[in-house]
Amino acid sequence: MKRASPLAQMTMALVSLTGVLVLMADLFFGVLPSPGEQSMQLRKGVSEALAVQVAALMQKDDRVTLKLTMDNVVARTEGVRSLGLRAADGTVVLQTGDHARAWKPTQADRSQPDQISVPLNAAGARWGSFEIAFRAEEGNPVWLWLTQPLVLTLLFISAAGSLIFSLYMRRALQHLDPASVIPDRVQGAFNALAEGVVVLDTKGRVMMVNKAFQNLHVDAAQVRPGVALSSVAWLASSLQRDLQDHPWARALSERKANTGHTLQVAVGTDHARQLVVNCAPIADASGEVRGCIATFDDITELHRSNAQLRAAMGELSVSKAEIERKNEDLLRLATRDPMTGCLNRRAFFEAFEPLVSEAATHGLPLSCLMLDIDHFKSVNDTHGHTVGDRVIQEFAKKLQQAARATDLVCRYGGEEFVIVVPGLTAAEALAFGERIRERIQRECGQGVREVPGLKVTVSVGVHSLSHAGTETGHSMVDLADQALYEAKRGGRNQVRLHMPIDVDLALAELDALDALVIG
Ligand code: GH3
Ligand code: MG
Ligand code: MG
Repeated sequence: MKRASPLAQMTMALVSLTGVLVLMADLFFGVLPSPGEQSMQLRKGVSEALAVQVAALMQKDDRVTLKLTMDNVVARTEGVRSLGLRAADGTVVLQTGDHARAWKPTQADRSQPDQISVPLNAAGARWGSFEIAFRAEEGNPVWLWLTQPLVLTLLFISAAGSLIFSLYMRRALQHLDPASVIPDRVQGAFNALAEGVVVLDTKGRVMMVNKAFQNLHVDAAQVRPGVALSSVAWLASSLQRDLQDHPWARALSERKANTGHTLQVAVGTDHARQLVVNCAPIADASGEVRGCIATFDDITELHRSNAQLRAAMGELSVSKAEIERKNEDLLRLATRDPMTGCLNRRAFFEAFEPLVSEAATHGLPLSCLMLDIDHFKSVNDTHGHTVGDRVIQEFAKKLQQAARATDLVCRYGGEEFVIVVPGLTAAEALAFGERIRERIQRECGQGVREVPGLKVTVSVGVHSLSHAGTETGHSMVDLADQALYEAKRGGRNQVRLHMPIDVDLALAELDALDALVIG
């Protein structure tokens, strides 16, 4: 069976005590009127008043009026059953109502609750007595019992006392300091904790707070036992509007821990504390939830450090990007020709030599083209260096557009460029050189808008890796340069293949060329 709440138990105890006190007061001092005695007194009063009247009429010996009066009394007085006038010798002189049946003779005319005998004297001697018989009280015996003053008083104390005592106790308990019943060592242990701790009852009212909680806010010291934690202004302002959503309310209603709830509590106009609230219900031995423990972890410093760390990380990543960009610039400056963006000689050979070794090792084709703008000096002389620079830039652009991602394009000197095409045989490189020559002739002069109708042509020398095992990047460039010289000598604006001394190889190259021309 479910045990009554402490409040109900205390109320019942108080009601019982009050009832006992009333009974004792009645026992010792008779404070409550006894119903029998009360009606007896009433009836005696009525009887004596009637007796005085009867005695007066008797003295006048006015029996007719006397009989009439007695009849009237029986007819009109509720509760009076019969009246009788009995002489000292026992004979009934006058009677009204069914007095013979109603009156039960008693010893020495003693009065009883339902019949009263008033002695009548005449000339100093006993004449007889006036007898009044009362009706027995009618009605439901339970109701008669219930309407007795003692029962009524006890019923009233039970009902009204339960209500008043429970209201009073509820209020009194709220203002009692439950902390005072918490042993010092328990309070001391809670105070030793770095987190703020609040113990709540099942209604979310504070039962105990520790020192760390009181240090969380200037108003935290005012959080007294009995106060609903959700009504604490400085906490409520940073909580949801719905009280049922407050972490401790959820822990109590859902009967399970509610953790990791973050709060931002303002402690000044420009200062806020970051709190993490964890709540767990407290259950008794039978599993019944008796309250809740809420901890408040101040992570303001951690939060601030995190923010600083994040800012520092942001700055670092910005400077990292800046450094990377600068490094790219540096690398570009170190490896590229600033005017055309083509590889400079040093970077070119650094990339070219490994390609030569790799192609030689695996027997793969590798070709190199040397390109020189024809009569460039006259461009400078006729249109000036600025136009000359523009021609070089436009020329380089066309080379870069023609080259594949795996090709190397190098500004070898003034208006001389080298393109290395891995995977291309001599015939393919020759065809590639031819395409470039045509493109330069067709597009390069047009690209230089400063000089309409400018004609730009190029001579190209091609050399392909011979696989004789002795070639390097430098030697390949030299051989391509020899072929270029031949192209210049042959009248410029043409492509020439360097012809190796190896006769077999030369024939093979020629076959390839024939195939190219016929195809
Ligand atoms: P060829 O057909 O035999 O190659 O005749 P060319 O006039 O092109 O050859 P030459 O070697 O006699 O002249 C090259 C000129 O290119 C000489 C030099 O002043 C010029 N030159 C070299 N570098 C630059 C540069 O960066 N800008 C400009 N505007 N001119 C340059
Ligand atoms: Mg030239
Ligand atoms: Mg030149």
